[in-house]
Amino acid sequence: HGGQYSQVCRARRLMVLVNPLSGKGQAMALYTGPIQRMLTEAAVPHTLITTEHQNHARELVRKADLSQWSAIVILSGDGLLFEVINGLMEREDWEEAIRTPLGILPGGSGNALAASVHHYTQADGVFGEDLLLSCGFVLCKGLVCPLDLLSVRLSSGHRLFSFLSLAWGFVADVDIESEKYRPVGAVRFLVGALVRLASLRTYQGRLAFLLATEESSSVTAHSPPSLPASSYCSSLPRVSNTQQHHSSERPATITGADLKEHGPVDDLMTPLGAPVPTDWTVVEERDFVLVLATCHSHLAEDLMVAPDAQPGDGHIHLFYVTAGVSRPALLRLFLAMEKGAHLACDCPHLVYRRVKALRLDPVTRPGVITVDGEQVEYGPVQAQVHKGYARLISG
Ligand code: ADP
Ligand code: MG
Repeated sequence: HGGQYSQVCRARRLMVLVNPLSGKGQAMALYTGPIQRMLTEAAVPHTLITTEHQNHARELVRKADLSQWSAIVILSGDGLLFEVINGLMEREDWEEAIRTPLGILPGGSGNALAASVHHYTQADGVFGEDLLLSCGFVLCKGLVCPLDLLSVRLSSGHRLFSFLSLAWGFVADVDIESEKYRPVGAVRFLVGALVRLASLRTYQGRLAFLLATEESSSVTAHSPPSLPASSYCSSLPRVSNTQQHHSSERPATITGADLKEHGPVDDLMTPLGAPVPTDWTVVEERDFVLVLATCHSHLAEDLMVAPDAQPGDGHIHLFYVTAGVSRPALLRLFLAMEKGAHLACDCPHLVYRRVKALRLDPVTRPGVITVDGEQVEYGPVQAQVHKGYARLISG
């Protein structure tokens, strides 16, 4: 037990952030149940922090003395990790801060990353308590791997960082509409999907993307794909992102007329008002049922959307379904997704591409766009991947 925890690690603690209201409101009981026991048995020192309001965790990690913490662990849904990642990227020392290992324990109703982390252990799919135990075990083992981040640019010019997904149309609508079924837990997505299916609609807009090619993914690799998994407590040198990202000669901080923006330079995208670069692909269809870009295998505990995705593969897994798909066909896709078999359905309306960047220009208004399951401002939006920019405690 705990054999990988060095002396250095014992001096530092895991910060475990719990959102007591996530999921069915049981996250605290998940901690006092199996998680506390597992961490104690594995001799993993940790401190539990309960969030009191939205953006509490974001403010907390923005100001925290990160030298005190070996990792930040979220016991909640994906929404709380989204807060933490954006809080880390808002710091003056973002480049160092975002290298803090991040862990996830499923405590929400949307546990996409937790389900993905379990999938990366190559074990068969599990749900509920078994998923919690699996993620608890991964956490106690403490192996760290590179985690891709998406830089997402909104029409207001605001930028945010995503570790999971960008959605528009069916998936985004279901995610937000199903909030009202929160008391039923993860089943809320299924209920929401069935309701939305009954009133299926199409969404008009323009979609463009930069295809990932095998060459491009190795040439622009920001962290070596062969980077070995390391324990988050080992005394591995904390290589700064600037050193690692030697392929980019540009400064890491853009200084505009009166705005200083933190974070990596988005070198693949042109401004939202300008045409996309010439090497991008513009999708001919303008009528969609859904557009979904994801960095991980799972969209929910029972939805394996990108079976081959890896946390640091440097790819955005882009799916879209064009208008004309029938209700039964769409239902079949979602049912097949439980086993990740939707691509084998040979649905002519479903397209899957591995990309490095994408832009969506919605015409239908009003509408919903979600980033990591959280609703963001509606309008033109684009995103690009920053390979291996963060670090994830994974199997
Ligand atoms: P779920 O998967 O159940 O939606 P999340 O972790 O995604 O769980 O949390 C849902 C939302 O609640 C997120 O937007 C998060 O920022 C917010 N949040 C976090 N802590 C609190 C709190 N103490 N009270 C209210 N909202 C919170
Ligand atoms: Mg959520």
